[in-house]
Amino acid sequence: MSSNSLDRNHLFIGGRWVQPVHRVRTDVVEAATEKVLGTVALGGAADIDAAVGAARTALQGPWATLSNGERADVLESFAGALKSRAKATAALVSRENGMPISLSIGANGYSPAAMLDYYAGLIRGTDVEETRVGLFGGRTVVRREPVGVVAAITPWNYPQPLAMMKIAPALAAGCTVVLKPAPETSLDAYIFADAAEEAGLPPGVLNVVPAGRDDGAHLVAHPGVNKVAFTGSTAAGRAIGETCGRLLRPVTLELGGKSAAIVAADADLAEFAAGLAEVSLVNNGQTCHASTRILAPRSRYDEVVDAVTETVRALRVGDPLERNTDVGPLVSAAQRERVLGYVEAGRAAGYRISVGGGVPADQPQGWFVEPTVFVDVDNSATIAQEEIFGPVLTITPYETEDDAVAIANDSEYGLGGTIWTSDEAHGYELAARVETGTVGVNHYALELAAPFGGVKSSGLGRELGPEGLAPYFRSKSVYFKDR
Ligand code: NAD
Repeated sequence: MSSNSLDRNHLFIGGRWVQPVHRVRTDVVEAATEKVLGTVALGGAADIDAAVGAARTALQGPWATLSNGERADVLESFAGALKSRAKATAALVSRENGMPISLSIGANGYSPAAMLDYYAGLIRGTDVEETRVGLFGGRTVVRREPVGVVAAITPWNYPQPLAMMKIAPALAAGCTVVLKPAPETSLDAYIFADAAEEAGLPPGVLNVVPAGRDDGAHLVAHPGVNKVAFTGSTAAGRAIGETCGRLLRPVTLELGGKSAAIVAADADLAEFAAGLAEVSLVNNGQTCHASTRILAPRSRYDEVVDAVTETVRALRVGDPLERNTDVGPLVSAAQRERVLGYVEAGRAAGYRISVGGGVPADQPQGWFVEPTVFVDVDNSATIAQEEIFGPVLTITPYETEDDAVAIANDSEYGLGGTIWTSDEAHGYELAARVETGTVGVNHYALELAAPFGGVKSSGLGRELGPEGLAPYFRSKSVYFKDR
C-alpha cells in the first residue's frame, strides 16, 4: 500500500467522514505509468447499509422541506465548489483512466458543474403541484414528489459526468443519493464529497461509498433504496434490471454500444476525417457511444479507407496529461488484454489491418494500444458485433443507403451513431431510420439539455434534459370533489 496525499481512508456517509466497517482498501493505479496513484477504502454491506440509512434519514430532514428554489441554491453552491476544483479533477481522472486531458477538462472538470447549474435552473421553473379540472367535474391536484433514495452506480470511463447525470437531477427533485463509483476511479469520486461538504449539502443528502460488484448488488437490492440509476456494461445492467424487476423498483440503465458512422456518398471526407478522433476514438475508444463501425459507400470505399487510415496513423499516442495527446492508455491491464484479444480475433478471422494492430513500441509503460483499423469487415464478424471498448475501428462497404441503414441497425446495441453527408436534410432523414437513442449529423456531441440513452441492449430510460429529471419524481394525484 502506498501512503500519499491521494490516499482516502474514509467513506462519506451522513455528512461525515467515517471509518469503513469493511476493512478492505484498493489501489488506484495510474494508467500511463502503472504506478499506484493512491488507495481508497472499499465499502462493504454494512457500510452500504449505513449510507442508505443516512440517505433515508436525510429524506425526512430539512431537505424535504426546502422549496425548489432553495434546493436550486444548494445545487448552485455545489456547482461552484466543483468548478473551483475542475482542473485538479480533470487531471486526476486522466491519471486514473488515461483520458486525454484535452477531453477530461470539459468532461470531468466542468460538465458536472454545468449539469448542476442546468438542473438548478430547470427545478426553479418546475411547479411542485398543478391543478387539473376533472373531465366529469371536480379537480385534481397532481403533486411531484421525490422518488426517494437513489442508488447511483457508475463505471470508470467518464466517472464524473456519468455520476452527475444521476446526482444532479436526483438532488433537484429532492431525492437523496448513495453513489457507488467503480473502484478504478474511486479517487475522483471523493471530490464530490469534498465539494458537497464545502457547499453545505445537508448531511446524508449525498453519500459516497466506493465498493466492488457484490456490494453494488447489495445496494441495488437494498430495501431502503427507491430507485436505481446505473451506467455500465450490458451484462451488469441485465443483472441489475432483473433485480429491479423482481422488486418492482424503478431503474434507468445506460449500457454498452456498437454505433455506426454512415458515410454517405456525398460526404465531405475532409470533414469526416477531422471529426473521426472525436467521434470514433474519443477517450481512447473507451466510450459507449463511439461510432466504431464505419460504413462506407462502395463508390468511394478506397477513399474512405485511405482517409481513415491516414487520419488514424497521424494520431498522437502518449501521455494523457499532455495537451496535444489524441490517444492515451487504456484504464487497466485487464482492459488492454481484452482489447488486444479482440484485435487477435479479427486477425484470426482473416481481416486485414490497415494501421495499428498492437502495442506502440515507444510506450514501454502504461496500458497503451495502437489505434487500429480493420478493413473489409463483414458486419457479422465478432469485431463488428461486440463492444471492444478500445481504439479499434472496423470499415464495412455498403452498396445502397438502404443497405447502410440495415447494416447500422444489424446490431444488438442502439446507443449512438453518426451520419456524414453534405446535405443536412438528408442526414436527418437517415438519422430517423437508425435505431438508436442518439445520432449526430457531421459530428457527435452530447447536449446537456437533450435526452441521452439507448434502445435494445443499450439500455432503458434517458438521462440529461428534462427527460432526465422525470424519473426522479413520482406523481401523486389528490382528488377533490365538486363544490
Ligand atoms: P461494469 O458494468 O463492469 O461496472 C460498472 C459499475 O457497476 C461499477 O461500479 C461496478 O462495480 C458496478 N457493478 C458491476 N456489476 C454490478 C452488479 N451486478 N450490481 C451492482 N453493481 C455492479 O462496467 P465497466 O467495465 O466499469 O464499464 C464499461 C462498460 O460501461 C461498457 O460496456 C460501456 O459501454 C458501458 N458504458 C455505458 C455508458 C452509457 O451511458 N450507455 C457510459 C459509459 C460506459
